Amino acid sequence: PHWTTPDPVALYARSQPDRLACVDLATDRRWTYAALDAAIQSAITVLADGYGLTAGQRIAAIARNSADLLILQQAAMRIGAIFVPVNWRLSSAEQLAVLDDCEPALLVRDEAAPWQPPRQGRATVEVGAFAADIVAAPPAPRRALPSVDATSIILYTSGTSGRSKGVILTERNALATAINFGVLGRVGNRSVFLCDTPMFHVIGLITSLRPPLLQGATVLISPGFDAGVTNRRLADPELGVTHYFCVPQMAKMLREQADFAPSRWTSLTALFTGGAPNPAANIRWWLDQGILMVDGYGMTEAGTVLGMPIDPQVIAAKAGSAGLAAPMLSMRLVGADERDVAPGEPGELWIAGPNVTPGYWNRANETANAFSADGWFRTGDIGRMDEDGFVTLIDRRKDMFISGGENVYPAEAEAALLDHPDIAEVAVIGVADAQWGEVGRAYVVMKPGRRLDAMALASHCAARIARYKVPKTFCPLDALPRTASGKIQKHVLRAREEAGSDAFI
Ligand code: ATP
Ligand code: MG
Repeated sequence: PHWTTPDPVALYARSQPDRLACVDLATDRRWTYAALDAAIQSAITVLADGYGLTAGQRIAAIARNSADLLILQQAAMRIGAIFVPVNWRLSSAEQLAVLDDCEPALLVRDEAAPWQPPRQGRATVEVGAFAADIVAAPPAPRRALPSVDATSIILYTSGTSGRSKGVILTERNALATAINFGVLGRVGNRSVFLCDTPMFHVIGLITSLRPPLLQGATVLISPGFDAGVTNRRLADPELGVTHYFCVPQMAKMLREQADFAPSRWTSLTALFTGGAPNPAANIRWWLDQGILMVDGYGMTEAGTVLGMPIDPQVIAAKAGSAGLAAPMLSMRLVGADERDVAPGEPGELWIAGPNVTPGYWNRANETANAFSADGWFRTGDIGRMDEDGFVTLIDRRKDMFISGGENVYPAEAEAALLDHPDIAEVAVIGVADAQWGEVGRAYVVMKPGRRLDAMALASHCAARIARYKVPKTFCPLDALPRTASGKIQKHVLRAREEAGSDAFI
């Protein structure tokens, strides 16, 4: 038997045709499930008849979020073409590298894309023109859906630890994440998702769109995040947002707004975060405002992996943990000897399940390295599990260093330093040291008007963490290098350290 791509939109077009599927907030266009299904079939006419696209060919998109991108992705999925959303914030050279890597037959772009691609060998269309073509085109006749295991999407990683990699995602992967987040996030037929996280990121493209579509619920698509606008939307009873998913950096921007009024977010089930560490103190602060901040851990390669229960008592008790393993996956915590660690001990998260990518596009070596001999996906993230099964992320395996024979996770020194009232941002890396092998160096952004006092910071750390974990040198910076989604790029700091270009104390 041959299992084909699940197509919930087509199902709901019959079972609940008039229910609102999708709203494009920028233009206030609305689609019921019947209308969305028809628009996807019309998009197939445009793609197949207009551009001659066939199964396996890539369709790249460099554009801000819109319902048109969702329609494009769903149409690509139905004909077995591969959707590749590209980070429009990348430089022209970086975008070109991605396009060279995935070699799209069609590029869909909007005016936000800063760069005009060379045209040879590749058709290019503006999103607006593409949307108009869809409206004008008749719906294509139904055809057989591709296999659930065909490549459906190539999604590039955030590039936090180096060059970003194209992750191959199948519809089996996307369905597993729709179920995993759907269960952890209590998504139902009446849910209303707000999606303003970029659709070139797993949170925007998969976690914010697939769980509601699987349930026949509603998605509100916004071109992008704007803290003031998002604050107003979360407080708008007419929108009735129940689910909003963002990275911690965005949540921080929400609370810094003058019109931040969480008491008016009455329809919200929870404020879901993931993608980067979310400190316990921050989660408790939100709880005090009456908002359940539900942290989860996931990655481009596997969608949602861990999630906190939506329960204020559990969140208060376990703040700092990224929660429990999602239902549709298996998980192990594994030591350097590739054996399971004892409870409470740090280990690398290894996972297996229908959510896990088959591998990286054009990267056979990286794909081989990502899996253990018996097929577990090595996440590269170190965590520890408590007796109740809650996992707390410690750090990336690549960021760990060894000082005097002891494993040091820089995240511990970073948390200690962030506790200091004068420090705005900090990142710690391991640097070579004649005596200890490696020692920590902290790159510190001070709050305005504060001076870096290395002795004071070192003793501040020594009061909180073991001596060998305390950074030995401190380097003041105006800002830390970050990815588009706000993650600190330590490989950039390492390169600067190796170049010896930074003054330190
Ligand atoms: P690259 O793979 O290119 O280095 P990236 O790993 O940052 O970039 P993503 O797939 O967007 O790209 O991010 C997944 C990573 O984000 C995880 O592997 C983990 O390191 C981190 N992460 C995700 N959720 C959490 C969380 N709740 N707490 C701490 N870290 C998290
Ligand atoms: Mg990664």
